[in-house]
Order: sequence, then C-alpha cells, then structure tokens
Amino acid sequence: MLMMTSGVSRSQEVSEPDTIGTASWDTMDVVSGDTIDVVSGDTLLTGTVMGVLPAVDYKTGDSTRTKNLPENAFDGKLNTFYASYKYSGSWVGMDLGRQCVVTKIGWCARNTQSGKERVELGVFEGANREDFFDAVPLYMIPQMDTVAQMRYVDVACSKGFRYVRYVSPANGRCTIAEIEFWGHEGEGEDTLFYHPTNLPCVVIHTVNNELPQDKENYIRSMVTVISDQDSEFSVQDSVFRSQKTEVLRDSAGIRLRGNASMTFPKKPYRIKFDHKQRVLGGKAKAKDWVLVNNYGDKTLMRNIVAFHVSEIFAMPYTPYCQPVDVFVNGEYKGNYQLCDKVEVKKERIEIEEMSPLDTVGDALTGGYMWEIDGNAKKEPHPYYTPHNMPITLHSPKDEDIQPAQREYFENYFNLIDHFVYLASANDTTWRRFVDFSTFVRYFLINQICANGDAYWQCFMYKKRGDTKAYTGPVWDFDLAFDNDKRRYPIAETTEFIYSAAANTSPFVRHIIHADSLTEAEMVGYWHKARHAGLDEDRLIAFVDSVAEELDASQQLNFRRWKILDKEVHQNPVALGSYSAEVERLKEFIGMRLLWTDNKLGYTWEPDVPEEPEVIVATENMRIDVKGYRVYDLFGRLIYAGEKMPDLKEGIYIIQHNNQTTKILR
Ligand code: CA
Repeated sequence: MLMMTSGVSRSQEVSEPDTIGTASWDTMDVVSGDTIDVVSGDTLLTGTVMGVLPAVDYKTGDSTRTKNLPENAFDGKLNTFYASYKYSGSWVGMDLGRQCVVTKIGWCARNTQSGKERVELGVFEGANREDFFDAVPLYMIPQMDTVAQMRYVDVACSKGFRYVRYVSPANGRCTIAEIEFWGHEGEGEDTLFYHPTNLPCVVIHTVNNELPQDKENYIRSMVTVISDQDSEFSVQDSVFRSQKTEVLRDSAGIRLRGNASMTFPKKPYRIKFDHKQRVLGGKAKAKDWVLVNNYGDKTLMRNIVAFHVSEIFAMPYTPYCQPVDVFVNGEYKGNYQLCDKVEVKKERIEIEEMSPLDTVGDALTGGYMWEIDGNAKKEPHPYYTPHNMPITLHSPKDEDIQPAQREYFENYFNLIDHFVYLASANDTTWRRFVDFSTFVRYFLINQICANGDAYWQCFMYKKRGDTKAYTGPVWDFDLAFDNDKRRYPIAETTEFIYSAAANTSPFVRHIIHADSLTEAEMVGYWHKARHAGLDEDRLIAFVDSVAEELDASQQLNFRRWKILDKEVHQNPVALGSYSAEVERLKEFIGMRLLWTDNKLGYTWEPDVPEEPEVIVATENMRIDVKGYRVYDLFGRLIYAGEKMPDLKEGIYIIQHNNQTTKILR
C-alpha cells in the first residue's frame, strides 16, 4: 500500500550493493523513526533490536559479530542488511518495551537474487514473552518479493505484543535489508488473529526451539489454533461475515508420528494438549490430535475424500479431519490435516474404556481396541494369531493392561482366527465373532479408494458383553487412489486389494468369500452406497469443492515443498502441477467406480429425479409403446422413456413390448 507520512523523508544513502541487483536505488525514500501515518495515526514503532548472532560476512563466508548485524534491519537504509550465519530458525526483531498493536508491516528484501528468494515464506511474529514461546504470526510473505523497495501490508491482528520479529523461511540464512513495524501502544483485543489462508492455522512453538525427533519423546510446546469464527450477520438486506477469529491455546507436548511418513522432511506430528480440548469442528473433547503431513499425496486430499466415502457408507465412526496451515517455531510447514487420534474415547471409538480392575466376569470382555499391524514386530508386545497375522493391542494401553486382560484378548482372537478359517456355507460360526456389516463396508471403502495399505493397518474393536469384533475406522489413504508405484497402474489389477500385511489376506478372503450370502450382502452395501452419494458426479463435485477450499494453502505448501515435479514417497508419476494431480484423482475415481461395479457384477443406474411428473393414466392409453412405461399401483403413469428407469422401493406396473408386468422393487 502507499505510505503517507508527515515526517521528513531523507534520501537513501547509496553505496554499492554487495552483489548485483537489478532495481534502481535513486528514487527510494526511507521514513525516519518518528514519522506518523496520517491515515491511521499509527507511528513507526521503535525499541531495542534483537536477533540471532553471529551474522555472516558474505565476502569471506565467515561468521562475524561486527558486520550485517540485526541493527542493520532497522537502520532506515535499504542497502544495509542483517544476515544470520545460521541457516533455518534465525530471526531478527525488536523489544518494543511495552505492548503495541501492530497495524502495518513494511520490509525490504536484500538487493540480490538470493535476498529476494530469502524472504519467500518469511514470517513476522508478535509475542509477549521474550523467548517468543507464545508468538503468533502477524504476516507471512507469500511469494518471492521485489528488491530494493519497501513493501507494506496491513496486519490483521488486534492483539498487542511487546516483542516482534521476522523469522527466516527454512533452509536459508535470515537475511533482510529493512523492517518496519507500525502501530500504537496498547494491549489490544483477542478478537482478530492472522492466518495466511482461508483455512484454520495451527501455530506451534517449542521450548528452546527444540524439534521432536522421534515418537517417544514429547517436546514441551505452546499450541495456538486460529480459525475464522463461523458467524454471519445481516444488516438490512446484506449479509456480512464477522471479522473475528476463534483462538484455542494450550500448552502441549508434540512428537513425531506415523511410519514411512515420519521419514520425510515435512514431518507429521502428534499433539497432546495438557487439557482436553475440542479442536475446530472435532466432536471429541480430547488431549490427543494428529497432524497428518500428506507429503506423498500431492492432491493433499486423499484422506479427506476417503473419509467422505466412509461417511457415505455410514460407518459408525469416521475420524474428524480438517485441512490446516501449520507453523512451527515461526516457520511455515505447509498444509496438513488435523485429525482425531484413533483411540477409545467418547465421539471417537465409543466402547467401554477398561480399568486395571476389570479382570473378571463381564468387565473382562471389553472394550478392546487393536490393529492388524504390518509394523507389529516393532511394538513391545506384538501378538500373532494361530495363522500368524500380526496384531497390536492399543486399548488397554501397554502401561495399564493386566495379564488377565491380555490373556482374555489373545484367547478371544484365537477363537476368531479359528472360526474365520473354517468359514463356509456350512459353518457360519465366524459370524458370532466378526461383525460383517463393518467388516464389509471397511473392505468396500478401501476397494473404491484402491488403498493398498488397507490391511497393513486395520483398526478393530470389541465392546463389553458383545462377542463380535467390529472393523474401523478407516485411516491412512495417502498411497490410495493409484498413488503407489508398487501397484501402479491399479487399473490392470483384476483382484480386490487386501494383501498388504503378511498373513492377513487369507483372513480377509475367508470372510469376504465365506459363502454366497456374504457376496450378496456385499453387493447390497455397495448398492446402498452407490445411491447415497457414491456416484461419479457427486464425488467429482466433492473433489472440486475441496480443491477450491485448499487452493490458497496448496500454493503456499508447494512453495515450501517444491516437489510437484518430483516423485516422492511411492509416487508412480509426478505431473508438475496441483491441478493435474487433482484431475488424475478425479479420473481415477470414475474409473474405479466402474471397476468395482464390474467386479461385483453390479449395474449402476442413476436415480431418477426425486419427484417425477405424475400423469394420470386414462382408459384410452395405448399400450403398444416403444420403450417403457411405468405406472404406480393407482394406475398413474410415472415414467415413459426408452430405458428402464431406476425405481425407488415400491410396486410398479411396467409396460414394455406390449407386455404388462407387475414388479417389486
Ligand atoms: Ca537496513
């Protein structure tokens, strides 16, 4: 924006830039410290300069404490700059001496190509602790910027901060020619906080900027979740969105999570709040939440689409999942999905949580929650079924479980294993131990999503006083939808996919193909889902709507992680753009619906419009019709056309080729 100042401008003190730049220097004016923005009445804020030392001397490449110091970023000169010696996590800022509401930020990149690159995704933060543990972002520079001139933005944050700083983007030195914070003294209000896109954002700061390295050790953190307050109000005929944000803040531990996904530079995190929190739209009030990194899924939405499919299949529980932007210690980490942790809890897997006292009688029978687990051998207490299928018991937890409980569970699963392997038309005992309804829906969801990991990790649970094992929830689809080179192209696969974890496929096969009844039931669930939203048009519309919602965030994400033209994780292809990746997903969904229809011997016919025009049949109506005429039981013509329509449940009279038949749908 254009600056208006009442202060005296002074001309730039020109000297040779340290490397060659392209911009002209001689028209630049720099405002001095006591100027006032006549529009807002805000002043250029001053204070004690802070920043990470040592700096770097670019001429020698050595560290220095005499050149390119933090003060250079606040000296009003565009040809002097701060440059940290250390890469990543370096910053330069100011102690304002009192809380100030920052209303505007100005900056100028160092006058070199690398100086320009170094500010892309640079983040300005405000805090009230000197160590910035409580910091929130004030603004992120979204793109590579111009050099040799000041740029200004208004700040969308109503809170006052004593400490303000600029944090360098990852993998480079913190280097910037000039920074200005404008505003006014005051504590401000907690009504408006910055977030870089339309999505909520999760801001994490760790003690001493330490980053989690493993799945065992939690790092003490402050976690702030910022989202738009979902409120609209109308004045006369106009509807306005409220300019407010919701803020959830709690101290927490964070650690890494996942398996393969943990090995990528964009790390997945587990958050354990110190207090139970209901986060964003999540239903559960819980301490544990996860941030899924989606590094190998360049659509950033495979999990979202699969969870949507799970909802179409009306699974008893589908984990909460919300795309967010994530900052860690002032650095933008990209687009993530904030999800429920899969655990036994109200509004998650709702079964009885066992106490160590539950060791006899009915109390001993549950609840239990476990996973068929391809990684079981890395767990401290893996259990293998008699047919050698790997299982990890998650609830009760290792630290709480009693020997009687473990023994009960293992004996119970031994029985399941035994009867599943006997499954046939003559022996349906397995049905007492396996809930087919959730088992088959889980199976179908993973088929339509073509998820090779479906039985590498498969959650199951048992309720108290109920002999059945239930399957679900669905989880982990980053390699699904033909995103796994080990199975690519899935179009050429003729069999269902269920062979991920060792010795799991016979278990699944025995259930799915137990008898003709299971196969008919499977088609029944498929039919129901096909008419509940599992059709190409509606799924594609869903994908398009998610792509639109993710658009601003995906752009930032792929500036942070320049991988669109690289095959990462198990990518079979790299298409170079986000939109091409989304198109490929859409094409695959259409293809896979057809594939599954064919595999199940199912014929898809779209629903007829909800309320067909009702025409009352007359005595004189000719019956030598071409095509079909369909009447209801009152003789009212409800359809006439060349093809037999897909009819809702009911009894109909059909005329076709001069024959009249009565059918039950
Ligand atoms: Ca300067």
